[in-house]
Amino acid sequence: MNDSEQFAHVNWSASAARVFEECPRRFFYRYQQTESTGDYSEYTPSPGAYLGTVVHKSLAGQVARWARSENIHLQTATDYAKDELERYTEANAETIADRINDTDIETFDSDSFTRSLVRTARNHIRRFFRVIWPHFEDHRYIAHETRQTFNIAEEPVTVQPDLCTRSPKGDFVVTDWKTGAYDRFSNPTIQMQAYALYAHEAYEPELSRIRVQLAHTGSGEFDRMVPTTEDIRRVQERITNNRAFWTSQGDIEFYETDPAVQKCSHCSYLHRCTDGQTVVGEDPEPK
Ligand code: SF4
Repeated sequence: MNDSEQFAHVNWSASAARVFEECPRRFFYRYQQTESTGDYSEYTPSPGAYLGTVVHKSLAGQVARWARSENIHLQTATDYAKDELERYTEANAETIADRINDTDIETFDSDSFTRSLVRTARNHIRRFFRVIWPHFEDHRYIAHETRQTFNIAEEPVTVQPDLCTRSPKGDFVVTDWKTGAYDRFSNPTIQMQAYALYAHEAYEPELSRIRVQLAHTGSGEFDRMVPTTEDIRRVQERITNNRAFWTSQGDIEFYETDPAVQKCSHCSYLHRCTDGQTVVGEDPEPK
């Protein structure tokens, strides 16, 4: 393979752009083509990441019911999350014990840990039903959880919003559920701008009629944005610049490390990264 094409396979997305912004080396490891069919199947998501995935799937199942004009059910949603989380902890007890620094699997209380995960998931789902969902009951369903790819200046862009609706006033509303705690390394603006661009390209030519929002299932709060022409210009510029770099630079030395204790200690590629190991202050076993 020609090095200059090494990252041409990576469509621009808010998540890829964010990984690249946080640490170019992490981007390199994550999207390196020779790795993509190898390590992934072995990877066990962290309990926090898996909880977020399960809550999202649980909510998506209920939104699908709503799309079919069926009633949504809190109990069905929480039962689904409970079953999935129990299966996860049972299958991965050893890895989880290791991740939470429990040196001896014998001392890891799997039942108590599972109950705590299920309780947290239930709290997120309840808050969704009681605080967040009432904002959508009079909206018209458009789409949910569908992966969409479109081109900007001939560069491929991928988005997957959790829900698209029309409000009673006719605004096009793009919503993403957020289950995680606030992450100081994340930049929600990129994702919101990407959704705004998608809504503008695919559904709504008038920017003033687009609403983009992040609904936090932990607190019931919303981050809301009405995009401007400047938002659209910025995200388009970012897509062009990121893709220009990704498609022209394939060697690892162009993807520099950007170590910091918090992000490196949670990085899946710490075992391959000496700069990360230096700031974390440990020499981890290869995973
Ligand atoms: S360990 Fe730190 S510096 Fe290394 S790739 Fe991960 S985030 Fe980047």
